[in-house]
Amino acid sequence: MPASPSASEAVSLARARELDAADPLAFARVRFQLPDGIIYLDGNSLGALPKATPGRLADVVQRQWGEDLITSWNKNGWIEWPHQIAAMLAPMVGADPDELLIADSTSICLFKLIVAAVMARPGRRVILTEAGNFPTDNYIMQGIAALLPETELKIVEREELIGAIGPDIAVVSLTHVDFRGGERLDMQAINAAARTNGALAVWDLSHSAGVVTLDLHLSGCELAVGCGYKYLNGGPGAPAFIYVSAGLQDELQSPLTGWMGHTDPFAFAGDYRAAGGIRKFLTGTPSVLALAALSAGLETFDDIDMQLVEAKTQALTGFFIESVTDLCGIDLSQQDDRCRHGGHVVFPHDHGYAVMRALVDRGVIGDFRAPNLMRFGFAPLYNRFEEAWRAAEILSEILRTKSWQEPRFASRDKVT
Ligand SMILES: *Cc1c(COP(=O)(O)O)cnc(C)c1O
Repeated sequence: MPASPSASEAVSLARARELDAADPLAFARVRFQLPDGIIYLDGNSLGALPKATPGRLADVVQRQWGEDLITSWNKNGWIEWPHQIAAMLAPMVGADPDELLIADSTSICLFKLIVAAVMARPGRRVILTEAGNFPTDNYIMQGIAALLPETELKIVEREELIGAIGPDIAVVSLTHVDFRGGERLDMQAINAAARTNGALAVWDLSHSAGVVTLDLHLSGCELAVGCGYKYLNGGPGAPAFIYVSAGLQDELQSPLTGWMGHTDPFAFAGDYRAAGGIRKFLTGTPSVLALAALSAGLETFDDIDMQLVEAKTQALTGFFIESVTDLCGIDLSQQDDRCRHGGHVVFPHDHGYAVMRALVDRGVIGDFRAPNLMRFGFAPLYNRFEEAWRAAEILSEILRTKSWQEPRFASRDKVT
C-alpha cells in the first residue's frame, strides 16, 4: 500500500486538478498523441506528435507523391507551401502573412538574415550578441565574422547589451527567451535602441513562438527567425521560419541566392534576379514532407487565443515552481518572476544529469543542459497542472531515496 499523502500534498494535488478543470485550453490536449504513463516536459525541445500528422504525411506520400507525382507542385500546391504554412503563423506572432516564410533550419535562416542585415549597413563592422545566447546562433555569427571582411563579433553580458548598441553596430542578434534560464529579453527596448542607433536587430524566437505572446509589429521587430519543431510541433528537424518586416523587404538582399528566391525560377535564366517581397529569402527546393508535418503542427493552434497560451504558460511554470519548492525543498521562488519568463523552468543540481535520467526512467521526460541544469518545459496546449505536480512529486522521491545514484543513470547519452 502506498502511504497516504500528507495534508499539504493532497491539497496541492486537489489544487492541480482544480486548475485543470478551470483551464480554458484543456480542450487542446486531444489534438496530440501522448503516450500513456509519460509526463512529457520537453515540448520546448521537441513538440509532441499532433494526432493529425501521421494521416497528413501518409496522404502527402501516398496520394500526392505516389499518384500525382511531379504534378503535385501545381496540383497540390506544393510550391506555395512555404508561404501558405508561414501564413498560419502570422496571427500567432503578430505579423502579416507576407512577412513570413518557412525555410531551411533556424541556423541557416539566421545566417541569411544576419548577413543580409550586415550587408545593408555598409560602413559598420560590428555584430553584437550576448555571451549566454544559444550556441548555434553564436557559432553562426562567428562564421559570418570570419567570412565577411572587416566584420567582427562583439559578445557582451546581458546587462551590457543596450549600452553596447552604438554607431559602430551593424546588427544585434539575440534570442528572445533564453534557452537556459528562460529569461525573456525586452524586445521592444532593444529594438528601439537598435533603431535609434541605426542598427538592425535579428531575433531568434525559437523558445517564444507558440508559448508566449508575440506582437512583432508592436514590439518594433524587423527581422526574426524561429524553430518549427519546439512549441510549433512540426516534428523532428522541422523547417524554421523567417520574418522580414514589410518595410525592410526591398532593402535587404539574401546572401544565399538560389533559384527558389529568383523572380522567375522556371525561366532558367542565366543570371540571378531576386524575387520581390519575402520570397527572395527562399534558396532551394522546399522539403515537402517536412512542410506537411509542420502544417499539422501549426494546426494545433487553430482557434487558440495566444493570450490564453501566455496566461497558461505563466500559470503552469509558476505552479511547478511552487510544487518543487514545497515538495522537494528546493527554493525556486526567486525564479518566479513570471512576466519575464518563457515556458520552461530550469534549476541547477550537482547531479543534474543523473537525476534527470532517473526522472526519465520514472516517466517524467525533461532534459539536461550542461553544466548542471535540469530543464522542464511546459507546452500550454497539452501539459496539465496535475502533470506539473506529479513531476515535482516524483522528483522529490528521487531526491529523497537518492535513486539517481544507480550506476545506470551516470553514463552520458549522445543527445542530452
Ligand atoms: C532550438 C534552437 C535552435 C535550433 O537551430 P537548428 O538550426 O534547428 O538546429 C536555434 N536557436 C535557438 C535559440 C534554439 O532554441
